[in-house]
Parts: sequence; structure tokens; C-alpha cells
Amino acid sequence: MQFSERVRSLISQLTLEEKAGQLNFLVGDLFMTGPTMKTTASNKFDDQIKSGEITGLFNIYGTEYIHRLQRLAVEESRLGIPLLIGADVIHGLKTVFPIPLGESASWNLDLIKKTARAAADESTAVGINFNFAPMCDIGLDARWGRVAEGAGEDPFLAGEISAARVKGFQGEHLMDEDSLAACVKHIAAYGGAEAGRDYNTVHLSELKLRQTYLPAYKKALEAGAVTVMSSFNDLNGVPCTANEFILKKILRDEWGFEGLIVSDWASISETIAHGTSKDMEDATVQCLKAGTDLDMMAEAYLTCIPQLVNSGKLSPETLDHAVGQVLHLKEILGLFDDPYRYGNLDREKSTLKSEEYINLARQAAEESIVLLKNENQTLPLQAGKQKIALVGPLANNSMDMNGTWSFFAEPNDPVTFLQGFQSKQPEVEYAQGCELYESTEKHFAEAINLAEKSDIVVLALGESAVMNGEAASRSEIGLPENQLDLIKTLKKVGKPIVALISAGRPLALTEVEELCDAILITWSLGTEAGNAVANLIFGEVNPSGKLPVTFPRSVGQVPMHYQLTNTGRPYEGDYSEPRSERIYQSKYRDVQNSPLYPFGYGLSYTTFDMSKPELSKEALKPGESITLKTTVKNTGEREGTTVVQLYLRDLVASVTRPVKELKAFQRVKLNAGESRSILFKIDVEMLKFYRRDLSYGFEAGDFKAMIGMDSEQLLETTFSLFDEG
Ligand code: BGC
Repeated sequence: MQFSERVRSLISQLTLEEKAGQLNFLVGDLFMTGPTMKTTASNKFDDQIKSGEITGLFNIYGTEYIHRLQRLAVEESRLGIPLLIGADVIHGLKTVFPIPLGESASWNLDLIKKTARAAADESTAVGINFNFAPMCDIGLDARWGRVAEGAGEDPFLAGEISAARVKGFQGEHLMDEDSLAACVKHIAAYGGAEAGRDYNTVHLSELKLRQTYLPAYKKALEAGAVTVMSSFNDLNGVPCTANEFILKKILRDEWGFEGLIVSDWASISETIAHGTSKDMEDATVQCLKAGTDLDMMAEAYLTCIPQLVNSGKLSPETLDHAVGQVLHLKEILGLFDDPYRYGNLDREKSTLKSEEYINLARQAAEESIVLLKNENQTLPLQAGKQKIALVGPLANNSMDMNGTWSFFAEPNDPVTFLQGFQSKQPEVEYAQGCELYESTEKHFAEAINLAEKSDIVVLALGESAVMNGEAASRSEIGLPENQLDLIKTLKKVGKPIVALISAGRPLALTEVEELCDAILITWSLGTEAGNAVANLIFGEVNPSGKLPVTFPRSVGQVPMHYQLTNTGRPYEGDYSEPRSERIYQSKYRDVQNSPLYPFGYGLSYTTFDMSKPELSKEALKPGESITLKTTVKNTGEREGTTVVQLYLRDLVASVTRPVKELKAFQRVKLNAGESRSILFKIDVEMLKFYRRDLSYGFEAGDFKAMIGMDSEQLLETTFSLFDEG
């Protein structure tokens, strides 16, 4: 990276101590073990800012407070270098949008870009200029709590969504006052944690790493993200914060990424616990050399750099490069030209929770909800015609609607399900039924009473905000036992049951599916949760969400995802054949191979039909493309939206290939009875993969193209690729 004249001049003027300070990034309240925030004026950091020991603070907000800190940096530190102000604005600041996994169920890239834009607008209005998002980690293991923060299991879909988020955060021009720096995190393969336990070791073949885990980060960087966060985990034996293979060979050399790399929280000093560095000095040298420019929370760089350079253990060039990266970021954010450009009291007033953003939050919530079951058209409910019992620990619960990573938001802002329901039908009655994890006789008795005098029971169950997210891995991924007991108890009353399931991961809902007539996945929907759910439940809005993750039947099936390879002994039966005919095949004795709900799945209040795919030709050569055509028809009685999905399979290749890979999708909105032709262009780029020698390219041969409205019910055709040579 060639730094500007201004950056080079500053580097030449900084002392060693000040350079170390430029690499020291702290949370706004020390002595915390995890993210927190400071919103009120505090003078805790004043001296460190004035002496140049801090490059910036994160998870603070508020124009007045931040401007006061900037003033100290600009007017009272020796060289007047402004501060970076970071934050984890993962799914909205004050207006909270659905958790990222939930929003990914919309498959609506425009919408996702808009919510990221809104989050950037609110954040910059309160003084934040650097966002630690999007999280682009693929998590195939539902036990891992941070699945909630990502964009699902599929590398292609997650890549498209991550790119949309980056574009939303960074806007048209990074220099605009409502744009902030995006951070692609956590590089690399943090989601591959063994057994789904957070921070755990990751061992992956390079093939799997490249084909499954890296593409989403790469897409997000291609969308222009200017920073990257390295991950906590060790990857094939080397902690990522000190991992030259990832940070240098792949990120810098192969992908040409030139921006700033920030460590994760104290992950530089954690290399000591990993057992790959012996002390802070060793950690500092290894991480800086590997390419981690900025130290978040370890204070290793601050304390060790001067003596390491003086003793010749760290080269001045390595140090200057890292310092240059930080100064460059400050420069491209416009902080040198106007250190007060982020944070504006008028904008705070007009932007935070504006009507426009609340409406957007409602739309995002509506489009995120996934209808998984709707037996006998239990839904939509008919407002005013049915006596509704709303039961469950999440039914009249505001705080948990915000979901994980929402510490900037007001806990009581979200509209509860009860409020949403009562806005449509004031007589809806409520009983808590049980606590999130516990039940009492009294709770159950109230719920039974209410169910008995009602026509239908709507149960709001599932995960609270702290049951997913960071450090929230679970070894069981069903509903807590007491919540299941509540369903079983109410089932005995004999009324139809609708389940609204909050979730930040794929849950194993086998029993719920057996007991309930209708199921909606409501993730953590944010500020407008109750209104969005009520709009769907009462039929004003037709569900259109599609799962961005596979929902297993049981925890024993995880890691589970649809991009399976065939194995030498694939099992495709349905367990109806004699046991002897299926014994040596790849399957379980006690559960089917198939998921409970496949990737891409989601119902609507209307029905759709799709014609067999037709290809414009049966073969292509490099440089050519084939057009696949299908006609989608809304065969029901009301307008609805579905997502048409294109999957491809390379039938014979030098390495085993997934039996299907999503390659394109289109959201299609159709009036009742309306048909539309949908075209997909298939080109050679879509046929490329990491081959046996790990080079990326295509191999001539036969391919299957499959289309459908989920990853299982597919119509297929075949085509060939000829190599000209
Ligand atoms: C998380 C990061 C986050 C950072 C700062 C870490 O614990 O892994 O995703 O950006 O904290 O809050």
C-alpha cells in the first residue's frame, strides 16, 4: 500500500511510543471482559488521548461525548491525530433490524443494503465511524451461537448478503458523512469451531476452507470493505491473529486486500493461551509480522513495541506499515479534514428511530419471518372472528426481541407480540405459560384456562436474546424442556396451536412440528417485531421468507448443510426397504439423513407452480452462456412472493463436488393467477471450483441444473461444458 504524503509525513514525526499508541484500540470502559459502552461524558481516557496512547475507542456513542474526546486528540495531543470511533452495529443502532441470520431469510439484497445504510446513518449521526460488521463467517454447526450473526450456511448466498451489507455501511462514498468503514470479520473460518463451541480450534482442509469458508469474506472485500478483523480461533494449528498463511498469502497476496487488519478482542495476547507465543513481546512480533495492524484490547502493541524496535526484534518497516494503515483509514474517513464530521446533534434528532427507519424495520421483520408449517390453513387468523390465546415467555417480551448484539438499543423499544396482536384485535388475551427455562404449576394452569376458553392458541417460544450470539454455544438445540412441556400440556386442550419460534440458529423442532398446526420462525425481529408478526398472522402480509440454513431433525445430525458430497455409499431411500438392503450405506440408524426443513424452504399463504427448466442450448464453451428458462405461476388466491433458486452439480470432477450448489436466485412477486418467465444465465464462471491441485477453474464434462423454491423439491435438466482446447 502506497500511503499519502500526509500519512508518510505523520509517520516520520511520530515517536516510537506514539506509533505504538496509534495501534492501541480500546473499548470505552476498561476492566470489561466483553463489549460494553460508555454513553456519558467520562474523563477516564483523557490523559491517554492527550499523550497519544490511544488511536481510538469503541462501543461508545453520542455526539457531545465523542466530540469532546476528538477535541482532546486534535487540540491537545502533540500531533493532533483524530480518533477512530468503532462499534459493533450488527443489526441496527437505535432502530433494530432483525438479527443478521433472520434478515438473511428475506433473500432480499436491496432490503439488506437499505437496513445497513440506515444503521450507518444512525451510527454516524452519533459519532461512530468504524463498524465491526458484517460478520461473514459460515457456520455449519447449529450449536455455534454466532450463527445468529451471519448470513447462513451457503457460501454464495452469504457472499451476496455480505456484499450488500458492506455497500450499505460504506454508502456511495466512504467520505460521505453518513458512511462508515465496514469490517469483514472474522478471518478466517471462525465458524468452523470444533463441536460448535465458541472460540474452539478449527481444523480444515485447504479445499474445504477455500470452497466453503473463504468466498463470503472475499465477496465482501470485493464490494469495497476497507478493513478486516482477524479471528480468535486457531486454524490448522496457527491462531488467525498470527496466521501468515491467511493474513498475508491469501488476504494480501492472492486477494490484493490493501486495507487495515484489526485483531479481535485481546486476540493478540490470547496467542499466549493458544500456546504459540511465550509472552506479550513474542505475541506482538508474531502478530505484527503476520499482518495484524491494530491491537484491539490486548495493549500488547502499546507496551511492547518501543523496546522491541529498540532491541532490533521488530523492524521499523513492519511497524510503520501498520501505523500507516491506521492513519490511512483515518484519512479516507475524512477525519484529518474534519475530525468532527461524525456526530451531529441535529442529525441525531432527525435520524435516530425516524419514521422511515421504523417502517424499514417492519418491512425487514416481515420479510424475515419463515412459515414452516401451515396445516389446514390454520393461518392467517381472522381478526375479530376467533378468540385468540397468546401464550409463552416471549409473547409479552420486549427486550428479547432486540436479539443478540443490540446493546445500543433501548430494551423496551420493541413492539411485543402482544401489543402487535392487540393492535389488530384488542380482545386477544395473554398468559405467560412458563418462564424461558422454567415452569410452575401456576403458569401452566393460567395457560390451560386461557386455552380452554379460546378458539386457537398462539405460542411464543424459543430462544431469548442471550441464548445465541457470542459465547452462547448450546449442546442441545431444541426448545428448552419446560417450553416443550408447555406445548404438550396445551395440546391436550385440543385447540389448534400456532408456534412463533424465536431463534438465532437452526433449531431441532421435530417435536414442535408434531405438536403444532402452524409454525413461524420469528428469529429476533427487532424494534418492529410485534407489528410485523401481527401483520403476517392476521394475513395483511403474506410470508415470503426462506431458510438461509438447514433445520436438522436432531442435534446428532449437525454439522448439517445442504451442500453435501455424495460419498461412495449414498443412501437415498426412505427407510421403507428391508434393513439388509440399506445396512452399509451412509446414514444413521436412528434418524433420517434428510433435514426437518431444508435450506431455501419457506411457505406462503398462496401456492406456486413452476414449469420444467428449458435450456437455450445443451452445451456451452468457455466464453459462452446458456439461458435457463422456467415459468412460475401463482396458483393460489392471493398475491405472494417466492424465491426461485438455481442449483448446479458437476457430475464428474477431479475432486468430489457437492450434490447441489446454489448459483443464483430471484425473488418473484406474483398476483393470484399470474405467471412469469424467469431466466437464469449459466456461464463458465458458475462452473468453476477448487480442483485437485487447488487451482480455481472449470473442468469440461456434464452438469446438472436444478431449479426450485427450496433446495429439495427440484426440477432438473442437464447440459455439458466443452473445453475448446
Ligand atoms: C467479537 C467481535 C467484536 C469485538 C468487539 C469480540 O468479542 O468477537 O466480533 O467486534 O468483540 O466488541
